Amino acid sequence: MLHGFYGGVHPADRKKTTSKVKIAAMERPPARVVLPLCGQDGESGEPLVKAGDKVSLGQLLCPATPRFAAVHASVSGTVAAIEPCLQSWGGKALSIVLENDGKDAPARPAWTPASRRDAPQDLTPGEIVDIVRQAGIAGMGGGAFPAYLKLHSAIGRVDALLLNGAECEPYLTADERLMEERPEAVIGGTRLLMRCLALDRAVIGVEGNKYAAVAALRKQLPLRGGDVEVRTLRARYPQGSEKQLIQKLTGRRVPTGKLPADAGCVVFNVATAAAVYDAVYDAVPLTRRVVTVAGSAVAEPKNLLVPLGTPLEDLIREAGGWCAPPDRVLAGGPMMGAAQFDLSTPVTKGTSAVLGLVAAEIKPANRPEGPCLRCGRCIEACPMGLEPVYLHLYADHGRVRELAGLHIMDCTECGACAYGCPARIRLVHSIRSGKQQLRSLQEKNRGEGGAG
Ligand code: SF4
Ligand code: SF4
Repeated sequence: MLHGFYGGVHPADRKKTTSKVKIAAMERPPARVVLPLCGQDGESGEPLVKAGDKVSLGQLLCPATPRFAAVHASVSGTVAAIEPCLQSWGGKALSIVLENDGKDAPARPAWTPASRRDAPQDLTPGEIVDIVRQAGIAGMGGGAFPAYLKLHSAIGRVDALLLNGAECEPYLTADERLMEERPEAVIGGTRLLMRCLALDRAVIGVEGNKYAAVAALRKQLPLRGGDVEVRTLRARYPQGSEKQLIQKLTGRRVPTGKLPADAGCVVFNVATAAAVYDAVYDAVPLTRRVVTVAGSAVAEPKNLLVPLGTPLEDLIREAGGWCAPPDRVLAGGPMMGAAQFDLSTPVTKGTSAVLGLVAAEIKPANRPEGPCLRCGRCIEACPMGLEPVYLHLYADHGRVRELAGLHIMDCTECGACAYGCPARIRLVHSIRSGKQQLRSLQEKNRGEGGAG
């Protein structure tokens, strides 16, 4: 078993309530879905439909933009509105709102599925990348960056394809179940990505405590000399962070301010690989994803296969509702997820979980901040080798140039520093604000023709 990235923490994994629960479709599908046409930081795409139009399941609603993957109808029905809607990150985004007619009437596939081709093995890398683009596949580990762009920019630049099956955040088991229940899709998608990149090998990294998932994946592969290797990793947060995974699986370090491709690597989430498989073999665009619904406030924790755009409140209802009043609801895991105050916000391509947590599960974060004890625990925990305590101090005092010198932009906002801070200082909050201050300064300098 591999280990050996610097820093990291060991939060209680709290995965038992859902790790053995099979993925289930929703018994009561959503009456409405909300499909954003842009992410947190980008311009909206041009919708191809208008209010009142009838749409079919899988119909293209908005083509890809340079920062956002194409959007397809996740249910069949009618366009109720195209308007700014609240999203799980806290802001509003122009979105297409669909009324579900409950028929799931499918649209005609926009490309020929490989399963119906005479020689699917003859698909060229360019054809596969184009299908990934048309299918609207985005990073499903949380980033939601368009997969075709990542793939396209990696062609000819990388010699290592890595698949992220670590799922190191507490509570989350959506990827674990997917690997266990659909290993052929994960391995098949990995092979398609290999073909695009002209590589004859790929490595899937999975935390070693996911025994059944590892066994299911390995069952798809020859005992020796296979083209895909499943490697187990020691459970530690943030094992699934891109740079840590690269370091562990290849021994390479991504230089400061650079991308994985600069270290010859590209990383995709295992769910993204499965989506590529479905798109290529069955001509299915990305309209659904598996979401873990868990936490002590949830009556029946589950892994649900849900249409994109489903309101979070529908997932809670599907999981039996609240069994205790939640003190915090999160979209995503407890380390990197975003607190939710309005549960009408929709599931997006990057939504891995909805958690309803009671006070005992979030106690440390609820207590007031104390003064810094200069204990250095945050520095020990930081997997990027940063000094979170100083990032926090400089950000709070507006000392922006010092923040650049301390490589604040390398922070992945993993939350490992804040997790162990005995003073309960909101380090990530300060660091986010520091990053924003630095970006503003750099933009100002660029505008003035300065060096930044
Ligand atoms: S949030 Fe940033 S500073 Fe804190 S441990 Fe993670 S990478 Fe380091
Ligand atoms: S862990 Fe918290 S208390 Fe300790 S040095 Fe870092 S910020 Fe200060």
